[in-house]
Amino acid sequence: MSTTSELAHFANELLRCRETPDYALALNGLQVDNRAPVRRIAAAVDCSQRTIQGAIDAGANLLVVHHGLFWGGLQPLVGAQLSRVRLLLDHDIALYSAHLPLDAHEALGNSLLFAREIGLTPAGGFARYQTIFCGVHGNADMLTGDLVAACGHFAGRHGGHAIASAYEPGRRTRRWGVVSGAGISPDTIREAMELGLDTIITGEGPHWSAVDAAEKGLVIVYAGHYATETLGVQALAARMADRAGVPWSFIAAPTGL
Ligand SMILES: [Zn+2]
Repeated sequence: MSTTSELAHFANELLRCRETPDYALALNGLQVDNRAPVRRIAAAVDCSQRTIQGAIDAGANLLVVHHGLFWGGLQPLVGAQLSRVRLLLDHDIALYSAHLPLDAHEALGNSLLFAREIGLTPAGGFARYQTIFCGVHGNADMLTGDLVAACGHFAGRHGGHAIASAYEPGRRTRRWGVVSGAGISPDTIREAMELGLDTIITGEGPHWSAVDAAEKGLVIVYAGHYATETLGVQALAARMADRAGVPWSFIAAPTGL
């Protein structure tokens, strides 16, 4: 039996949380502690009343998520935020959150695992953020339409769907980049051009990215923010559960996005 803080320490070291850069409002690591030893772990993409309730129903007392409680910065504990915190405390459930350390990890990363899930073999990093790569890139030789279909199949298993910027039938994908979540920015597009990518697969992106893509010989596939970030938390929860010798399960709570 492990305590929550022991397991959180294990995960922090595994993910190198201290050394990994992240957005100013990301709080990586243990966000809410509890009293009892960890008896079961639940993994979810987001911290919400729905996923906390899912953890309660599963009999878990540690919830591991990708998007934690504090994205809004300083905020009063009222309304939905209070309900989340109250639900955690009333049921003595701890909350562990890992954002970019989980996206970027060389074995548990969302982008890496998602790329493999849709049949791609990563060969290097993509989507640089300060000192890390949030995504992966590699080579292939396949119909872009087949890649879009594989993304659609995966997204469909998580309550979503995949859409793609415009492309001609018969177009082939030879050099691709994958970055999970909201991975598209002007920097990402610039990096894609430098790497000679012809296809980017991400979760979601702004409308301008599809306009830009068409003019730069790129196709961008948007497979859903939620779907593309389901794999990292599961891999992390499995490692933590293995360490503690307890069971774990995934709490599906698709956002449709
Ligand atoms: Zn995300």
